[in-house]
Amino acid sequence: MDTRYPQQRISVFDIFKIGVGPSSSHTMGPWRAAERFVRALVLERALELVQSVRVDLYGSLARTGVGHGTDVAVALGLTGEDPQTVERDAVDQMRKGLRSLKHLALAGEFSVGFEYTRDIRFHHHQALEYHPNGMSISADLSDGTTITQTYYSIGGGFVIQQGEGDRPEASITLPYPVDQAGDILRHTQASGPGTPISHIVRRNELVFDPEDRIDERLLQIFRVMRDCTYAGLTTQRPLPGGLNVPRRAHRLAATLLPQPWPEGAERFFTALADTAAPTTDAAPTDGFERTLRWVSAFALAVNEENADFGRVVTAPTNGAAGVVPAVLLYYRYLIPNADDEGVVRFLLTAGELGSVFKKGATISAAQGGCQAEIGVSSAMAAAGLTEVLGGSAEQVLMAAEIAMEHHLGLTCDPIGGLVQIPCIERNTMGAVKAITAANLALTGDPSAARVTLDDVVEAMWQTAQDMHHKYKETSEGGLAARIPINVIEC
Ligand code: SF4
Repeated sequence: MDTRYPQQRISVFDIFKIGVGPSSSHTMGPWRAAERFVRALVLERALELVQSVRVDLYGSLARTGVGHGTDVAVALGLTGEDPQTVERDAVDQMRKGLRSLKHLALAGEFSVGFEYTRDIRFHHHQALEYHPNGMSISADLSDGTTITQTYYSIGGGFVIQQGEGDRPEASITLPYPVDQAGDILRHTQASGPGTPISHIVRRNELVFDPEDRIDERLLQIFRVMRDCTYAGLTTQRPLPGGLNVPRRAHRLAATLLPQPWPEGAERFFTALADTAAPTTDAAPTDGFERTLRWVSAFALAVNEENADFGRVVTAPTNGAAGVVPAVLLYYRYLIPNADDEGVVRFLLTAGELGSVFKKGATISAAQGGCQAEIGVSSAMAAAGLTEVLGGSAEQVLMAAEIAMEHHLGLTCDPIGGLVQIPCIERNTMGAVKAITAANLALTGDPSAARVTLDDVVEAMWQTAQDMHHKYKETSEGGLAARIPINVIEC
């Protein structure tokens, strides 16, 4: 089924969403679906009549739902917790106690009986037709009726309800409508020579938010990315899930910045920017290796936090949440004269490029494999970096095209259904490729390019159609099949 919808009106803040790991489609999406279900019960004046609640998970949500925390996310959503504001302790408590819970407080208030194996059902061999990530939530009421709603988690934390279609924003009119990458170029060219892509995106964002609010929200996104990276760099506890994957970001950063480290993200990153002094004999003094290690440490840090149910920014998904922050922090703290205005322009550009892939192909690994996650995030980061390093609109699109071109066909094969192997390391590769792509584009001639960004978006979609389902977030192929581990979720 063709789930693409080029006419969607997507804000940058739909692409960058503050939430909780480890998966945008398996954690964030189902969490939002459960919140929507509770809101529907409130609207129907049915909340206080609920006797029991049942969740049915299908397709990819069933196969890798435990490793991705789908069950935990749904339970938290039903209890009224919001992924943007939930305390980490609340997530940890639900993870540890969910299987032994006897009651669930709907919307935090109305207690209903709950039994894990009875009320959360994993349909491993059944998928719903519209999308591989389908789920239903049902509530039995005291008047003998049942309310059931079906949702699809379509990637990047986006959720649609059965029957409403993927088109709720169609009526919004933007000054610069973008259905595909070619439209971006047309708008920048019509707006005068040298018009940056971020300018066009900002004009569109003004339909949703006033000017100062746009900057404020984007800098908030940046701070959450930075804080998440700092948390990952300074945390050493092993990752959950049973694979015993060690964290590596801390050890890598320790080769670069003398310890003890300043406390707090802002002071840490200021110190990082101020010093090039290595901490050990084995640490690189050369600029290239130092940069490579920092960028890798940033990407590892974010995705180790993501795997540990930490607070991350979906960009455009959680599995790929480390790529954009790694390249953005590289820009902000390792490139001279970078500033907050550049951070805002980076995010505007990267966000717009993410939505081009969502409209023209997919950002769902269950539909397109890892090219839809790491590939898209790498293209977004390449575009953002090229913009702030002074590239033309043509070069920005060229950078995104180059980055995605070398991720085409990348499969999704998370071992044990956890967003850890190969996911965490894969973010480092996406970030490094993004920086390479930006540099190729900045020194390249877009008029000589044979492949456009729209060509590569279409190629990605066709590749997604032809990709066997076992390489699409089912943990049935690739690395996951080579190392079939039954992980125990703690
Ligand atoms: S392999 Fe890629 S797409 Fe699949 S879960 Fe990991 S990061 Fe996401």
